[in-house]
Amino acid sequence: MKRRLPIRYKMTLWYGLLTLLLLAVFLPLLYLTMRGALLGKKEEALRQSLTQISAQIEQRDGKPVFANEVPIPAGISYMILSDAETALASKGDPSAFRLSPFQTGALRTQTADGVDWMLLDAIHPLPGQPTLSLRVASRLTDVEQVMHTVELISLICIPIFMLTSILGGLIIAQRSIQPIQQVIQSANIISQGDLSERIKSAGSRDEIGDLIATMNHMIESLEVAFLREKQFTADASHELRTPVAIIMAYSEALLAGDGLSEEDRKSVETIFLESRRIRHVISQLLALTRGSEGRYPLHLEMLDAGELVRGVAAQLAELLEEKGIRLMCDVQPGLAIWGDQSLMTQLLLNLLENAVRYGKPGGYVKIAAGTQGERYRLWVEDDGIGISEEHLPHIFERFYRVDASRDRTGTGLGLSIVKWIVDAHHGSIEVRSEPGKGTEFALLFPQRLP
Ligand code: ADP
Repeated sequence: MKRRLPIRYKMTLWYGLLTLLLLAVFLPLLYLTMRGALLGKKEEALRQSLTQISAQIEQRDGKPVFANEVPIPAGISYMILSDAETALASKGDPSAFRLSPFQTGALRTQTADGVDWMLLDAIHPLPGQPTLSLRVASRLTDVEQVMHTVELISLICIPIFMLTSILGGLIIAQRSIQPIQQVIQSANIISQGDLSERIKSAGSRDEIGDLIATMNHMIESLEVAFLREKQFTADASHELRTPVAIIMAYSEALLAGDGLSEEDRKSVETIFLESRRIRHVISQLLALTRGSEGRYPLHLEMLDAGELVRGVAAQLAELLEEKGIRLMCDVQPGLAIWGDQSLMTQLLLNLLENAVRYGKPGGYVKIAAGTQGERYRLWVEDDGIGISEEHLPHIFERFYRVDASRDRTGTGLGLSIVKWIVDAHHGSIEVRSEPGKGTEFALLFPQRLP
């Protein structure tokens, strides 16, 4: 399945995008509002100056005169024209007056010699005199300077804000995800079968804290149910052992006598064989429950691999002969392995027994032992019926049988016992199989047990 972007990167991406969106909306808004306010102030200053200038125009001896008693604010240029040629009064930068023709009442911005200006023209009528034209102007350099500074600050702020938001987002996301990673780790351990494990909580009282508490409660209920089931299996096996032993003993005694008709003998024989099978299942179940509870004391010692294999081969001689299967042994000379003798024997016996039972009549079964790096390796191979891919993940489960009709003597517990023994020796097991071609079980064990 395609792996999606981890949540912490997704959260960081969202933080980054949100900051970018806020900056993209907020900064232009700030820029436009500031510019509008500054230009508004400039316009107000021009209009006030125009009123001031108008108020200072008088008529003396029938001629217009500019009294110039109240000084016009600095930065404002003005000119009063009595006709197109003659200026009654003027002050400031002359380029402001070369700009555009007079346009009464209109506020404009214009550029002259690379400088931006704001202009305001008006007329001043005088009784019995030609109308005067008034112009006030102010450079926009100061507004531009402020706006330029705002642009500069924005350019510096955008990367700083983005970086802070991305890093901050990553840290926050990492912190919020951390307890979830802990949950995953613990859940992994638990899913490997250790129901005594609990998810550690950092004592948080948030939703994740609630989730951890709920999951721990669930695992506890599972553990209790599992222990009850194990106890039941152990108790049931114990209870069944004696009656089965009695059935076996009585059927054996009946078979030993000769008071049975041929038909009855066959029935008693079936009773005997089936009760022997049940005894086998019971002893396997008891071994498994004791093993999974850790109640089986391991007697670890150095075992001669060759001797171990020879012992198991001898036990299987009859079965091998029955099926005409050739046993090939390839054990590294002098190889010694650490383990519990009876468990290791049981393990090889279960694997080899399966190899023969599911092997090809007239075929071969191979057992090999050697070292692989720091570990030792055992493998059992056959050229039998094989196991199809859909069954492979389940064959180590208790009572799992691929097809009960393939072999009537099996219990479905052999490989569960193998798995338990491998785990008890801190080893690992791998199966490769191809239906119709054969199966290979490869086991790896540490050379020294921890
Ligand atoms: P059983 O007592 O039925 O053999 P096991 O736990 O030993 O139970 O094995 C589980 C199932 O795995 C068996 O039912 C069998 O179908 C399959 N199996 C195990 N070993 C082999 C093998 N060497 N070749 C083919 N199938 C095998």
